[in-house]
Parts: sequence; C-alpha cells; structure tokens
Amino acid sequence: MTNPAEILGLPKPAWAADEVGMLYDMAHRFMSEEIAPRYDEFEKNEMVDRECWLKAGAAGLLCASMPEEYGGSGGTFAHESAIIEAIGHVGVDGFGIGLHNSIVAPYILHYGSEEQKKKWLPKLATGELIGAIAMTEPGAGSDLQGVKTRAEKDGNQYKVNGSKTFITNGQLANFIIIVTKTDPEKGAKGTSLIVVETDEVEGFERGRNLDKIGLKANDTSELFFNDMRVPTSNLLGHEEGQGFVQLMQQLPQERLQIGTGAIAMVERALALTIDYVKERKAFGKAIIDFQNTQFKMAELKTEATIGRVFYNDCVARHIDGGLDPVTASMAKYWLSDLQGKVVDECLQLHGGYGYMNEYPIARMFRDARVQRIYGGTNEIMKLLIGRSL
Ligand SMILES: Cc1cc2nc3c(=O)[nH]c(=O)nc-3n(C[C@H](O)[C@H](O)[C@H](O)COP(=O)(O)OP(=O)(O)OC[C@H]3O[C@@H](n4cnc5c(N)ncnc54)[C@H](O)[C@@H]3O)c2cc1C
Repeated sequence: MTNPAEILGLPKPAWAADEVGMLYDMAHRFMSEEIAPRYDEFEKNEMVDRECWLKAGAAGLLCASMPEEYGGSGGTFAHESAIIEAIGHVGVDGFGIGLHNSIVAPYILHYGSEEQKKKWLPKLATGELIGAIAMTEPGAGSDLQGVKTRAEKDGNQYKVNGSKTFITNGQLANFIIIVTKTDPEKGAKGTSLIVVETDEVEGFERGRNLDKIGLKANDTSELFFNDMRVPTSNLLGHEEGQGFVQLMQQLPQERLQIGTGAIAMVERALALTIDYVKERKAFGKAIIDFQNTQFKMAELKTEATIGRVFYNDCVARHIDGGLDPVTASMAKYWLSDLQGKVVDECLQLHGGYGYMNEYPIARMFRDARVQRIYGGTNEIMKLLIGRSL
C-alpha cells in the first residue's frame, strides 16, 4: 500500500523529528505485527486481549508522555500523537490506548497527589492497570452538569451510587475515573473526580458490552455503582468540588487527540483509495483515468493537506502550552467532519467493493462515524466556538 504517512508529501513538523519519528516507526511495527493480524478476532470478541495491553506497556507504548520517574517515557503530546497516528495508519482504531495514554493518565499527573502518582502511574505504564473515564450517564451526555452519580462521604470512604454508559474500555478497565457529585446542591461546583480501582471494590458492576455499529474491537460499556465504597484518598485534587474545572482543563487534549485519529484515518483512506482506483478498471481504463475520479481525489487531497497543516499547528501550540479550548474544539469538529467526508467519498470510489466488510474502507466508514459524537458532539464544539465570537 502507498504509505499513508507520506501520502500528502508535506515536510515533517519540527515536533515530529528524531525520536518522535522513531517512536512512530516502532508503534507502526507493533500495531502491524501484534494487533493487525488478530484484529478480526478482536472485533469478534468486541475487545482487544489484555495481553496486548501488557505487550504495549512492555514496548513503551503506554504513558509515553508521563515523566520517567513515574514509569513513563518522559515525552510530550507529540509522542502520544505518533502512537495514535500509527494506530490509524495501520487501521486498528479500536485499540483504546489513546484514551488511556492521553486522557486518563494526564488526570493523575496533573491532579494526583505525589502518593497517587507513585501508586498508579507506573501500573498504567505497564498495562497492569487499564484506564477509563466515566463521565456520560443515561440522562447526561452533552450536558455534563446534569450528572447524577452521587458520592457521599462516610468516614474515610465515599459511598458511590449511580450509573454510567458508553464508557470506552468499559469491560477491560480496572482503573476508572468517575465524574461524581459530592455536593449536588452546588451544581458544577459540587462535581468531583474519584478514582476507582475496580479489582478491589465492592458494589461495582459492569453492564453490557454495548453493540455498536463501528469500533467493534473496542469494549464500550455501561457501569453501575451500588453503594460502592471507595477510599476518600482516591479523590483527585486537594478538595472536593474541583471536578468540573479539571474536566474543562483536560478536554482540549482529549479533543485534539480525536483530531489525531481523524487525520490519520484520512491519510489511510486516501492511500488505500489511490491504490484501488489505479488497479480497478471500467470501460477499458483505470478508474483513476476518469476526470471525476481525478477531481474528487484532488479535492480530498487538498482538504486533507489543509487538515494536516492545521493539525500540526495545533500540536505545536499544545506542546508550547498555547492551545486554547476554542481552537481545540475547532480541531475536533473540523477534522472529524473531514474524516467522515473523505471516508465516504473514498468508499464511493470503491463501488460495491467499498460496501463489503472485507475491504478496509468499509470498516473505516463504520469506525469514523462516532468521531463526530464522542468527546463532546460536533454541535457542542460549534457552541463553544460560537460563544467565543
Ligand atoms: C463509542 C462511544 C464511546 C464513548 N466513550 C465515552 C467515554 O469513554 N467516556 C464517557 O464519559 N463518554 C463516552 N461516550 C459518550 C459521548 O461522549 C456522548 O455520547 C456524547 O457526549 C453525547 O452525549 P449523548 O449521547 O447523551 O447525546 P445528547 O447530549 O443527548 O445529544 C443528542 C443530540 O443533541 C445535540 N445537542 C445536545 N445539546 C445541544 C445543544 N446545547 N445545542 C445543540 N445541539 C445539542 C447533540 O449534539 C446530539 O446531536 C462515548 C460514546 C460513544 C458512542
């Protein structure tokens, strides 16, 4: 296949030089050798084996941006980007290590006490702990202030009651950050993040592994808390009520990493489709010889180039600490919309074969759709951008 990493022919950004490039190559090799050959089995089982998480940890692909003193590799978001891009370029998008690495672990690094960091980050880096973040509830998705899960202090424990849904890594995760209300009267100011180590807790129950239209290799689940007892020392932050601020501070990176997956899939879709339209013939010539195909591919390549340049700039700004939440929302919404458009147009150029599951573009079509929904829907992104005008 044409190389998706080089399909746009752009120079590498400064942040992707040297060891970031080496990490990309290593992650690409790992995904091609360890995950891709078994991916059909993982889709059928609706989750990736725990053993693969441990292997990813041993290969240095977990917690790449966490400091070395806590078991990480001491990198930046550029390193996380390299890993997520490799996942997208190989086409194993259901392997949920992006969320573990660049969403769950950073909450511990930024808001955890020294003791919490020493206790949890090294195990997240080996894959002994698999991370998830549980915000969404059956009655509260876009409107997170409506979260009802209640954590009541009882001595040196919290008694947690409530339920969550659509939680990525929900079957495998044994380390879950839960968005709770510690003081429901105070609304957003009564929201707190509490960590649950599910191997050690009573009153925790996993619901169904939800039947999705795409990202089949990822386990996405309901979670239930029935008088679940969690030590008060598992609160993130020095005091209760910090949860909403913590979420708002971390959402830009979550949104940017959705953009990472989007641009990587766009590049893979283009690479696959260029190969396909050169091979496939109709009316005595290759599909690429029709002017419609050339115009379509020219449009898609142009938009992908614009998307990649924008993405690279967002990463550069994020590494310097200057990526504002509004621009991160733009990246999430625009790149995931672009992903949906490119994958749809590329499927069309595959004709009937594009609709067959054995062709990778079919899986990409199913996997791409959710990118416009999770991490805050694209409508919510526009709301946030609109408010800044
Ligand atoms: C595969 C998958 C994985 C997920 N992983 C996680 C996870 O790991 N952790 C987690 O906490 N959550 C996760 N989610 C949940 C996801 O973040 C929510 O589904 C999403 O935020 C939308 O919430 P909702 O489903 O309740 O939709 P709703 O909030 O009910 O929205 C329904 C529709 O109304 C629109 N809408 C809502 N409010 C407004 C408004 N003010 N203005 C305009 N339009 C509006 C929305 O854009 C949407 O189109 C996941 C979801 C999926 C499908």
